[in-house]
Amino acid sequence: MAGKFFFIDTTRCTACRGCQIACKQYKKHSASKTKQYGSYQNPLDLDGNTFRLVRFSEHPSKENSMVWYFFTEACRHCLKPPCKKKVDQIKKDAIIVNEFGAVLYTEKMKGLEKSSKAIKQACPWSIPNWSKEEKQMVKCNMCYDRVEAGLPTACAKACPTGALNFGDEADMKKLAQERLAAVKKKFGGRGEILDLEDVRALYLIIDEQAKYRPVA
Ligand code: SF4
Ligand code: SF4
Repeated sequence: MAGKFFFIDTTRCTACRGCQIACKQYKKHSASKTKQYGSYQNPLDLDGNTFRLVRFSEHPSKENSMVWYFFTEACRHCLKPPCKKKVDQIKKDAIIVNEFGAVLYTEKMKGLEKSSKAIKQACPWSIPNWSKEEKQMVKCNMCYDRVEAGLPTACAKACPTGALNFGDEADMKKLAQERLAAVKKKFGGRGEILDLEDVRALYLIIDEQAKYRPVA
C-alpha cells in the first residue's frame, strides 16, 4: 500500500525537541508533570498528553568517552498494526487505517479502560496510553487533518535539521536510502534503517544502542 511515511534520520537530530513541542502545541496538550531523574529527557515517557517524545540515552564509546543518542519517538503507524489486531478482538474496527496509512483510534475506543494494559502491551514499542480526559487509549494520529489538507505533520514541519521528515512513501524511502549511503560512508560502514518492511516511520541509526530507551 502506498501512502505517507516518516523518515527519521537520528544522525541529524540535535534534541531541540521542536517536534515534541510542535505536537503539544498543535494538539493543544498541556504539559505533563515531571521531575529531574538524571537525564535531560523530559518527560520520562509518552503519555496521554505527550504523543511525541525525544528520548535521550548515553553510552560509553571507543572513540570518545561517551556518545549521546537522541531518538524522537511516536507511533510508527505499522503496516499490519498489532494494536489493531488486539483491539479487533475486543471491539471490531475501533481502530481504522485511513487512505494515507495513518492508524487511527476512533471514538469506539472509548470505555476500553480495562483493556488498556493489553492494548499497550500489544504494541511492540508500548506507544499508546490511557487518557483520563478523552477516556480512551490515545497516541499520534499522523496529524491526519493536516495531511488531508495537503500539509506536513506539525512535528515534521517544525524540525529545523532534516532529522524528522514526512511525505510520500517513495520519496521517504528514496531519502532514507540516500542518507543511509551517506552515513555509512561517513561512519565507516555503520548505519541501518530499522523495520523497513513493517512500519511507516523509518529510523536511520548508526549504532544498535541508539534505539534503546534510557534506563529510568
Ligand atoms: S506503533 Fe504501536 S500504537 Fe502505533 S500502529 Fe504500531 S502497534 Fe499500533
Ligand atoms: S504526526 Fe502529529 S500527532 Fe503525530 S507526533 Fe507528529 S505532531 Fe504529534
